[in-house]
Amino acid sequence: MTLDVSTAQGAMTGARYIESLRDGREVWLDGKRVADVPTHPAFAGMVQELARIYDLQDSDAFREEMTFRSPETGNRCSYSWLLPRAAADLKRKRRNSEIWNEQSWGQLGRSPDILAPHIIALYALRAALGAVPHPRCDFGENIVNYHRYCQENDLFLTHALGDPQVDRSQQPQNEPRNPIEEELALHVVEETSDGIIISGGKQLATAAPISNETYVSLSATFLRRSDPNCILAFAIPTASPGLKILCREPVSGGYGGFGHPLGRRYDEQDAMLFFEQVLVPWERLFMLYDSTPLLRQLGSGTNFQGWPNLCRIHERMKLMTGVATLIAEAIGVIEYREVAAKLGEMATYTEMWRHALDGLEHTAFMVDVGAGESLLSLGDLNGMNIFFAQMSARMVQLLREIAGSGIIMQPSEGDLANPELRAYLDKYMRGKDVDVEYKSRLYRLAHDLAISDFGMRQEVYEYWHGGDPNRNRINLLRAYDQAETTRRIKDLISRPLANEGQG
Ligand SMILES: Cc1cc2nc3c(=O)[nH]c(=O)nc-3n(C[C@H](O)[C@H](O)[C@H](O)COP(=O)(O)OP(=O)(O)OC[C@H]3O[C@@H](n4cnc5c(N)ncnc54)[C@H](O)[C@@H]3O)c2cc1C
Repeated sequence: MTLDVSTAQGAMTGARYIESLRDGREVWLDGKRVADVPTHPAFAGMVQELARIYDLQDSDAFREEMTFRSPETGNRCSYSWLLPRAAADLKRKRRNSEIWNEQSWGQLGRSPDILAPHIIALYALRAALGAVPHPRCDFGENIVNYHRYCQENDLFLTHALGDPQVDRSQQPQNEPRNPIEEELALHVVEETSDGIIISGGKQLATAAPISNETYVSLSATFLRRSDPNCILAFAIPTASPGLKILCREPVSGGYGGFGHPLGRRYDEQDAMLFFEQVLVPWERLFMLYDSTPLLRQLGSGTNFQGWPNLCRIHERMKLMTGVATLIAEAIGVIEYREVAAKLGEMATYTEMWRHALDGLEHTAFMVDVGAGESLLSLGDLNGMNIFFAQMSARMVQLLREIAGSGIIMQPSEGDLANPELRAYLDKYMRGKDVDVEYKSRLYRLAHDLAISDFGMRQEVYEYWHGGDPNRNRINLLRAYDQAETTRRIKDLISRPLANEGQG
């Protein structure tokens, strides 16, 4: 059985995306079921913004940079889905990711461009997935077909990898898991002729309520589990019967058109997923009862997920450095040695990131993915992911330190429009050579980056989204090849230094 692409229309458009969200999905917010996701105030800003960027894919300005012609169907498809086979492909994919992130200021952890490479990473495992036998389907064939289906329909995916945060005491992070498995972990209830029936919860999936499909798998922590019924990877439509999506409190609120310029556009939402007797058809399963393929991928150093997240981080760093610089100018502190040094520190991280991006391209390598096919992986990015989890907080701290109290004390648009107040605002709340309107808008952008509900959610996201940084550091250390260095150190300390040149 294959997923049909005969009616697929290629790269998503804004209108098609908005309509795709009206499919009966079960989204819950503040105790109420959401009747229409695209127009609900918690989602409308984000949905409109994504629709705007989707439309760029079919614009004269961006069509060539964002899409390619599918050899199979003739559809124009997003570069997010292109399987990289040559250095030129990596460059095209990088440019596409840069556009997505320039357009969204590096604020979207789960833009459609970000999940596509996760499916490509699975595609690259097609041989290993296919090597796990099952009488009902071929997991390797499934991922090939699913990739084609996503590419030709340009689907927006989210992913859910973790168990609910109920009791972590039974979950050692780097050893095989203790055999105590609770029913709350997503698990197979039964097999039927149509597929498997699953129940359980997932914490959490960013952008789930506004996505087309959810890719469900296991993070590095949960791959090492004992009960095979809990080992599964698959993708299903967001509107699958039995799937409940519970949203967190929105961070998109705020006064006026200039307050919360990021939160109002880029609150991508985070959601718990509750599965109650949900059917996963056989053709949508990529892994079942045996996590060997994904465990092998963890230590392989392949990096098909690379560009989108890394370009996003670069955009975010450029934005923070730029806003901090403009603020330092706006209040006349940019020439102070301490302030300039802090701005220089922000620029240093941003520049290092750019060099690291180039480095990943130069260390790209071919990977044999089976069936006579090879794909080009970027160099290993584990160290970069861990670095940003710790460095993002430093960037935010520097922005706060440079901005001073203005980051919380700015007039609203209502204040600015009130003639009784305006004279005071012009006098006491202007900046150095800038009027109060400009200064307040700039500062409110900084507020949204560094201290608003939205800004704080972003900061929490940066720390956790790649998984527990401590677990990642330990896993990186375990795979870090120091054999030559430690051999030389042991050699150095194994014999006394010759007292050459000493009297
Ligand atoms: C804003 C946001 C968006 C996210 N989006 C997604 C998404 O789209 N898809 C997705 O799959 N996931 C997503 N995540 C989840 C993310 O991957 C997890 O937050 C991360 O893996 C940590 O897991 P946890 O939150 O369950 O924390 P926990 O694992 O519960 O950790 C809590 C604390 O306990 C410690 N701890 C836990 N277990 C151990 C142990 N065995 N040994 C030592 N210390 C331990 C941790 O270090 C930490 O200090 C998102 C998270 C956030 C915050």
